Amino acid sequence: MPELPEVEVTRRGVAPHIEGRTVDRVEMRREGLRWPFPEELDQLLAGRTVLHTARRGKYLLIVFEHGTLIVHLGMSGHLRVLPEGTPANKHDHFDLVVRDAQGVQVLRLTDPRRFGAVLWHPAGEGPVDAHLLLRGLGVEPLGEAFSGELLFRATRRRNAPIKQVLLAGDIVVGVGNIYACESLFRAGINPKTAAGRISRARYDRLAEAIRAILAQAIERGGSTLRDFINVNGQSGYFQQEYFVYDRAGVPCRVCGAPVRQIKQGQRSTFYCVNCQK
Ligand code: ZN
Repeated sequence: MPELPEVEVTRRGVAPHIEGRTVDRVEMRREGLRWPFPEELDQLLAGRTVLHTARRGKYLLIVFEHGTLIVHLGMSGHLRVLPEGTPANKHDHFDLVVRDAQGVQVLRLTDPRRFGAVLWHPAGEGPVDAHLLLRGLGVEPLGEAFSGELLFRATRRRNAPIKQVLLAGDIVVGVGNIYACESLFRAGINPKTAAGRISRARYDRLAEAIRAILAQAIERGGSTLRDFINVNGQSGYFQQEYFVYDRAGVPCRVCGAPVRQIKQGQRSTFYCVNCQK
C-alpha cells in the first residue's frame, strides 16, 4: 500500500509535469474507483490551469483556482506521466491530460484493486482541509506542529497501545504499519505500552524517530523519481533495510535477540523485547 513517503515522492515526481500546465481534457474509463468519479469533471477542468500540488496525509492535492482535485492511491494505485497517445491498459482508469507550449502529457492513474479515489472539492466550499476525508486527519509528521510534546499531550487519556494510537492517524498522519514498527524500535519503546503512560522524554525520542524515518524514506524514494516519466512506474514500498519490520525470528540488528512478531488490532507488529521497553 502506498504510504506517506510514496505519496510525497509521487507528488514531487509529477509536480514539474503538471504545475502551471493547462488541462486539455480528462479521460475516465470507468464510473469510478472506491467512489464514483465526480460528474462533469471534464467540463469542470478543461482549460483550467494547475496552480500547484500539495499533499495532506496520503491524499495528493492538485490545486486549481476554482477547487482542488483530491487523489488517493488506495491499496495499489500509482501515477505516471506519459506521452500523449500512450495506449491505456486494463487498470489505467483515469487520465488528466495537460498541455503547455512544449506539448501534451498525460497524468495517468493506474489502480488494479480500485481502492483509490479521485474527488473534487470546489473552492466555494472553503479550504480543502474542511473536506470530509481530510478534516479528521492528525498533524503532518514532517510539519512544524508535530512534536514529542504534541504526542505527549494528545495521549494523556489514551490507554490503547502506542502502536495502535500511531496507526489511528488522528494525532499524527502517515505513520503506517512499517513506519510505526521502525519508529518505536528506534525510540526504544515497546509497542504494547499504553500511550498514556509514556513519558514526555520518550515521546520526544519517538517524534524524532518518526521524522527521521519518514524523511529517509522520502529521500530514498527520490532516486525513483525518473520512474514517473516512463511506463514502468514504481508501486509499493521503497526498498529499505528495516530493523524489525518483517524480520520475525531474525536476530535484532542491535542486540541479536530474535525479533518478535505479535498481532495488534489485526496488524502484525515486529519488535525487540530487549531493545524496546
Ligand atoms: Zn534488540
